[in-house]
Amino acid sequence: MDAVVKSLSDGEASQAESDKPISDRPTRAEAEAAVLTLLRWIGEDPAREGLLDTPKRVVRAYEELFAGYRDNPVEVLDRVFEEVEGYSDIVLVRDISFFSHCEHHMVPIIGKAHIAYFPEGGVVGLSKLARVVDVFARRLQTQEALTAQIADAINDTLRPRGLAIMLEAEHMCMAMRGIQKQGASTITTRFTGVFEEDPALQARFFMLIRE
Ligand SMILES: [Zn+2]
Repeated sequence: MDAVVKSLSDGEASQAESDKPISDRPTRAEAEAAVLTLLRWIGEDPAREGLLDTPKRVVRAYEELFAGYRDNPVEVLDRVFEEVEGYSDIVLVRDISFFSHCEHHMVPIIGKAHIAYFPEGGVVGLSKLARVVDVFARRLQTQEALTAQIADAINDTLRPRGLAIMLEAEHMCMAMRGIQKQGASTITTRFTGVFEEDPALQARFFMLIRE
């Protein structure tokens, strides 16, 4: 019973603090010390010359690889709305490469995103779509959640008549560990609006990204 009571009060505490800056964020020194612990745990000698700066480098790399926690996808998309008079057909950006990390093993997910939408009044700069993919990819993810988060962010800001997203990715945690299946790609899709309603539009989307 103690454990239940504790987890409930923990939940309330984190709820109340959700608006504040992350006060319990470890310091850089603590993060570097954690890397040093992992080096020792895998059997390395963190004092050998080649590894002396590794904890610092890993923490700096993490800042870049997980920069998505500091970025707001709504801001990314809000900035560039352009009215495009007369164009209401499909806008498709394909082969947006991304790098993410699985939330189960913190091992890379490497893939491509294809995004199509039918504008309703406005469009967004094409590079902004790639930026949105990056914001969510640079967090710990599952491919399913990544797909849904990208779709929701674009839908909520751009409000297109329809949106189609497909992610195809290789999960290094499958390739390098566990069942060790290399080259297997996982495909996830999300259709909204007219894409969801009309299978012919879904077929057009698949045709366009395979051309
Ligand atoms: Zn994994």
